[in-house]
Amino acid sequence: MERDSPKLPSIEPAILEWHDGQPVSARFGDVYFSRDDGLEEARHVFLRHNQLPERFARLQGGDTLVVAETGFGTGLNFLATWQSFRERAPAGAMLHFVSVERYPLTSDDLRQTLSLWPELAPLADELCQQYPPLVAGSHRLVLDSGRVRLTLYFGDGLEALEDLAFNADAWFLDGFAPACNPGIWQDRVMEQVRRHSRPGATLSTFTAVGRIRRTLAEAGFQMQCVAGFGHKREMLRGELPTEAGTVCNRPDSVLVVGAGVAGSLLARNLADRGLSVVVADQGDRPGAGASGNAQGALYAKLGVQLNDQTRLSLAALLHAQRYYPLNTPGVWHGTGLLMMGSSDQERQRQQKFLRQNEYPASVLTPVSAGQARTLTGVACPHGGLWFPGSGWLEPSRLCATLLDHPRIRTEFGFRASRLLPCNNRWCLSGEARQDLVADAVVIAAGHETRKLMPVLGEFRMKPIRGQVTALPVDSLSETPKAVIAGSRYLNPPMDGMAVTGATFDLHDADPRVRLSSDKENMAGLNDMIPGMVTSDDAPSSASSRVSFRCTTHDYQPIAGPMVNGEGRVLEAAWLFTGLGSKGLMWAPLLAEYLADCLTGHPAALPRSLARRVDPKRCLAKPVSSDTRGELA
Ligand code: SAM
Repeated sequence: MERDSPKLPSIEPAILEWHDGQPVSARFGDVYFSRDDGLEEARHVFLRHNQLPERFARLQGGDTLVVAETGFGTGLNFLATWQSFRERAPAGAMLHFVSVERYPLTSDDLRQTLSLWPELAPLADELCQQYPPLVAGSHRLVLDSGRVRLTLYFGDGLEALEDLAFNADAWFLDGFAPACNPGIWQDRVMEQVRRHSRPGATLSTFTAVGRIRRTLAEAGFQMQCVAGFGHKREMLRGELPTEAGTVCNRPDSVLVVGAGVAGSLLARNLADRGLSVVVADQGDRPGAGASGNAQGALYAKLGVQLNDQTRLSLAALLHAQRYYPLNTPGVWHGTGLLMMGSSDQERQRQQKFLRQNEYPASVLTPVSAGQARTLTGVACPHGGLWFPGSGWLEPSRLCATLLDHPRIRTEFGFRASRLLPCNNRWCLSGEARQDLVADAVVIAAGHETRKLMPVLGEFRMKPIRGQVTALPVDSLSETPKAVIAGSRYLNPPMDGMAVTGATFDLHDADPRVRLSSDKENMAGLNDMIPGMVTSDDAPSSASSRVSFRCTTHDYQPIAGPMVNGEGRVLEAAWLFTGLGSKGLMWAPLLAEYLADCLTGHPAALPRSLARRVDPKRCLAKPVSSDTRGELA
């Protein structure tokens, strides 16, 4: 019955057996839910005994209730919770559901199981549409137009709870019967349940086993044995004592400096969560800086070693692949992307990558040169890795689309000169403009970010010049129908022009377009795909653009609390930059993560990955505390 385990990052799926039309876990020999009526059981055991219907009704606009679960299984409990939330919670309230699953159902099994409940069909469809590929790690799904968020961790429950950052208001303990599956009921898991609980948190479970009751009571829950569902005599519920005076200091207003891809995605995310946002940019329109190229590709270079860096890139890629088609379909072109083995070194790297890792084909799949030709429409000399969920988009239109929201005010042509705290708020001054004031500030100003940080100290961020060249289709030997990336990239054409690039010019601050950079781009493209550009000279109708990427010493992005020169965190001030040439990949997940941090939601990044983007790591030389002119 056991199949060979796949290599990471893939994760073993659940093995279902169907008995009388109901799914049973072949691995654990237990049912996913009551044979009497799974949905009614979910409502009785988990919803009623956590008083969720009443608690949903008591929420107010801007409130979030966090439910956490051990054992996502078929998602039935989640859908029942979502349904109850929709029926009772007022507009503006949010539900956040955190669940962990060691053996996720395949998407086919999920669909088949959830079809048992026609009344849940619209919610089940939305869940199935966004259900992640079976790769280990944390996945964030944004559902119901942002009213509902699901953090779904594929991996062992204990490992997940140790790594995830969240505080729950209610718990569903649902990891199969303790006798079939003691691992998910071990004391260390129960300690994590306690650790992640807010004062007043409740829990419930179908089991009434004495040891579980005692462990939870020792952890501080007031436990009760109550009538179970159907033929089950008893079950457990519990509650932590409340604490007076817990305050939530979520800001009402946020100032985002920078209207590029990072700033626009963050502003929209915060506005969708009910916050008022002001976006200031020195440019005269959205995406005037590095996000202003006519086309940008969504690609990731996944490392051979599956370390935290690779996990972070993978999480960001998968999130972006869910985000754009769903939220900004008008600017997204899901053509697929070929990562061509365009050099001996890259071909060897890809071979090693494929030997050491196993990815679902829906994420990436190796292709031969012949297959690459069919997929891209171009005579690729080599195969490579095909990413079916990738593609390209129009970055400045993306920014404009995102910023068009009633709770977002934009201030273009705002040349920021000074950022200072005033009366527990942040105040941004601009040349000949009225100051902008907000409860919190996020600097998302690409390579200009450092200048605006009101702190001393050396931060390891640097600008790297990049020039892209848009070539008219008639100067190309063939027209690509998918993105081709290698030593250069080439996009499918838009309005008769295909963007290629970009140069990577270190220590070069020249903002002007240079003919030599265009020639470099064309020569690079011809090296990658011989004969692709039919003339050596830049065609007169080519159009080019220079911008500056912001990169860091470790080429990892920056998203987190701003620190001063000593590494101390500044209150309500955040940084979002260092996305290098992969802004389209990084920005949706990191915007989600930062918005979580600002609003106190469960974090989209587990702690092991949040560390990789922490601004503090970029501080090169901490300055001593007696340095004058330093804030905070
Ligand atoms: N709540 C689910 C639903 O609504 O369909 C049913 C959960 S089912 C009874 C128990 C789930 O716990 C199974 O999907 C199983 O794979 C998962 N599980 C078991 N051991 C686990 C572990 N150590 N970590 C995470 N999940 C685990």
